[in-house]
Amino acid sequence: MTRFYSIRFRLTATFLAIILAVMGIISLFFYNTLERYYMNNIEESLERSGYLASDFVVGHLRGQIDSVRLSALAEDMSRQAQARVLFTDQQGVVVGDSIRVGGLLNQALDHQDVQAALEGNVSSRVGYSERIQHQVIQVAVPVLEEGGQVTGVVLLSASLEEVYRTLYDIRRFLFLATVIAMAVVGGGSAALAHRFTGPLESLTSAARKMAEGKLDQHIEISSADEIGRLAEQFNIMAKRLSYYTNNLKKFAADVAHEVRTPLTTMGLLTKALKEHEMEADQQQEFINDLDDELERLTALVNDLLELSKLEKNDIEPEKVAFDSLLRDMIGEYQYRFLHAGLELIDNLPDEEFVLYGAPLQLRQVVSNLLDNALNYTEAGGTVTVSLEKEENELVVKVEDTGCGIPEEDLSYIFERFFRVDRARSREGGGTGLGLAIVSEIVAKHGGRVWVESEEGVGSRFYFSLPLAEE
Ligand code: ADP
Repeated sequence: MTRFYSIRFRLTATFLAIILAVMGIISLFFYNTLERYYMNNIEESLERSGYLASDFVVGHLRGQIDSVRLSALAEDMSRQAQARVLFTDQQGVVVGDSIRVGGLLNQALDHQDVQAALEGNVSSRVGYSERIQHQVIQVAVPVLEEGGQVTGVVLLSASLEEVYRTLYDIRRFLFLATVIAMAVVGGGSAALAHRFTGPLESLTSAARKMAEGKLDQHIEISSADEIGRLAEQFNIMAKRLSYYTNNLKKFAADVAHEVRTPLTTMGLLTKALKEHEMEADQQQEFINDLDDELERLTALVNDLLELSKLEKNDIEPEKVAFDSLLRDMIGEYQYRFLHAGLELIDNLPDEEFVLYGAPLQLRQVVSNLLDNALNYTEAGGTVTVSLEKEENELVVKVEDTGCGIPEEDLSYIFERFFRVDRARSREGGGTGLGLAIVSEIVAKHGGRVWVESEEGVGSRFYFSLPLAEE
């Protein structure tokens, strides 16, 4: 049943119907014109011969009529006109017939056309002849005296066998032409439809496989037309979907892994506290360790919640005086840097910069970058925060003289849970999600993040944000 709804079937059927209709109309028109042309031609020729004969026999129908002579004349004319020729007198009685044996000599003809001719009119008709068992055309022409008096009729009748045979041949030719046209068009449209529907079938099959969970689908693109473009977009979509799904799976595994580590430690600590006798200060140490792990777990869950919030909701932007926000944060961090033996330098220009954004999230970006600079820079180092306006965006740079990042890790640095040095990150309370959150927030604000770093020398973290239009 679906076959009948397929594009291939409908396209081919439509083309065939169109070609059938067009060929039908053309054939009908062509055939009718030709038939009329032949009939008119033969009728005119018979009429001309009739007039000629009428002029010729007018003298023979006066007074005593000589049937033998008239029949001989009729026979002569019959040969020229290629038709049977009859003469009647003014009563419609046959006085000459080109057919000698079995002719109609001396018989009265009461055909309508003979009657019409006796009244002075030329008439013609097509009818069936029992004698020759075929269609014939008959023309009756009056024989007129000079005064206009009708003295007889010339009746010519010609077989239409030849004409009908020719018309039959033409009909056969037209039928054959229609069949050939339909075969060519049918084949052509089926091939064309196949070309169109082939990629659609591949698309359907790939989409079905995706619905079954096999997301890693790719279709070969063979054309640059609309279907080719659809296939191209499908490939992009399938790749993205597969990428996101894999990422999601990896993320879930990573989360489980990240949660398991503090949980295992906490389990061991709790077991030790429960099962072993220990001094009060050792007990306190264990409890402190438990507290640290709990804190780490809480930080991880908070970061995860932050990320999922970022993914779920769009930011609600408001006007932010970004230079003041940065200056305030540098002020807030001064004590912590001082405490760690680091210098935090404010290298901001003395200018106001306004942009649209979510202030809490922008604070989070700066705070994550400053926390990292703090964590990954040894005492005695410096961290500098600068701000520059470039065309219609602001670029913030957080530069440290810390441990730096190996070149091969630079491209992974903004991925979730990526850490260069896992132990060091954990020590500093890192979750491995800080830069992922930075990148997500900046992207939400229409900006970019990037990093330049050299191991043992330091790192420069940049992020850009579009400025509010004037
Ligand atoms: P973490 O919580 O581990 O700091 P982030 O996503 O903030 O997670 O950072 C990912 C990793 O990038 C860190 O583990 C660290 O190895 C590296 N990193 C981030 N900032 C710096 C920096 N300023 N200097 C050196 N390495 C850094």
